[in-house]
Amino acid sequence: MEKAIITLSLLFMTTFARGQSGMQEQINQTALALEEQVIEWRRDFHQHPELGNEETRTAGIVAAHLRDLGMEVTEGVAVTGVIGVLKGGKPGPTVAIRADMDALPVTERNDLPFKSQVTTNYNGQETGVMHACGHDSHVAILMGVAELLAGMQDELNGTVKFIFQPAEEGLEDKTVESWGAKQMVEEGVMEDVDAIFGLHINSQTPAGVIKYKPGPSMAAVDNLEILVKGRQAHGAYPWSSIDPIVTASQIVMGLQTIVSRNVKIIEIPAIVTIGAIHGGVRHNIIPEEVEMIGTIRTYSESQQTLIHRRIREIGENIAESAGAAAEISIKKMYPVTHNDPDLTASMLPILEKVAGKANVWLHDPVTGAEDFSFYQKEKPGLFIFLGGMPPEGDSETAPSHHTPDFYLDESGFVLGVRALSQLAVDYMELN
Ligand SMILES: [Zn+2]
Ligand SMILES: [Zn+2]
Repeated sequence: MEKAIITLSLLFMTTFARGQSGMQEQINQTALALEEQVIEWRRDFHQHPELGNEETRTAGIVAAHLRDLGMEVTEGVAVTGVIGVLKGGKPGPTVAIRADMDALPVTERNDLPFKSQVTTNYNGQETGVMHACGHDSHVAILMGVAELLAGMQDELNGTVKFIFQPAEEGLEDKTVESWGAKQMVEEGVMEDVDAIFGLHINSQTPAGVIKYKPGPSMAAVDNLEILVKGRQAHGAYPWSSIDPIVTASQIVMGLQTIVSRNVKIIEIPAIVTIGAIHGGVRHNIIPEEVEMIGTIRTYSESQQTLIHRRIREIGENIAESAGAAAEISIKKMYPVTHNDPDLTASMLPILEKVAGKANVWLHDPVTGAEDFSFYQKEKPGLFIFLGGMPPEGDSETAPSHHTPDFYLDESGFVLGVRALSQLAVDYMELN
């Protein structure tokens, strides 16, 4: 690592050009010089994945690196998170850049020299642990950005705050109310921040491409639970029952009309999915209760309010019409990932400058979610997607995130280092 720092210092000493293009050239060259190191870090994290709130090895490596770079480092933020603060030579705003560190309970099927061999007992099941969402690359890329920007410290017009957070994927422990970005925000990490940037690698977007979307880019997630309470009876004497199975079926069908009849889908989509139905034990017993669980995906608070109201109206009234009762509970999990339109507009030319105009694509709303959204509720933020698919790959068939075959083309990482560095530098310059 020391050798890398010396090489980089030499590189800076030979870069005398100042101003925007000089800075950009310096960022490009340094990112290229760091590429091999970033890939090496990523492979190490890939081989040693850790589940949410257990990222102690990863956090230790991150903290040591940030300290080596001369930063003020805080560990143990939101359980295993690490914060590094880099104060530039000139006064200016504070810009945060975030990476998430957690892996998933997935058994890796890729045949890689740095394949994960880690296993765990998850929810009572033996399973592998794998960086099947690519957060290993996020950590490595942000460590590269930290090294790059530390080398430009005197020239920076402000402060850069590096946020390495745990548990983006959530926790299995239902008794825990807060984790990941939400907990980071509760512990005050956004208080002195003016704007925040982050990226997600994408295994179905070609390396070399950046995707963005102003406004709502990823969905809000709410967990839905419906308990239909009827009256138990012999299956041969249904007239003496209040059948919760028939009632639940009608509710499932009724819920389908929310997206098709109530949501103004020409503006923005929404999703209401019932993912599980549990009721009954035997072919000739009508049970007393049926439980259903599902997920709701929305892109604005007004849409979310409308859908929650319609779910209650449909569920409760269908149940009532059958003489049953429906207990409905909806728990808000992740807010909308909302890219501040002004910030996105002012940063778009920077993305185009870094990736080339043809390689910056506008994306459709993503129905998945991100806890980056919690930071964006506090301050303006921009969250982009970085291509991680081999350029010759097919985005229709490339293995998706959270699967055992999830695979990243490492040649895409250097663009991530360049993009995040340039966004931070130019944001500080412009604000
Ligand atoms: Zn994920
Ligand atoms: Zn992820």
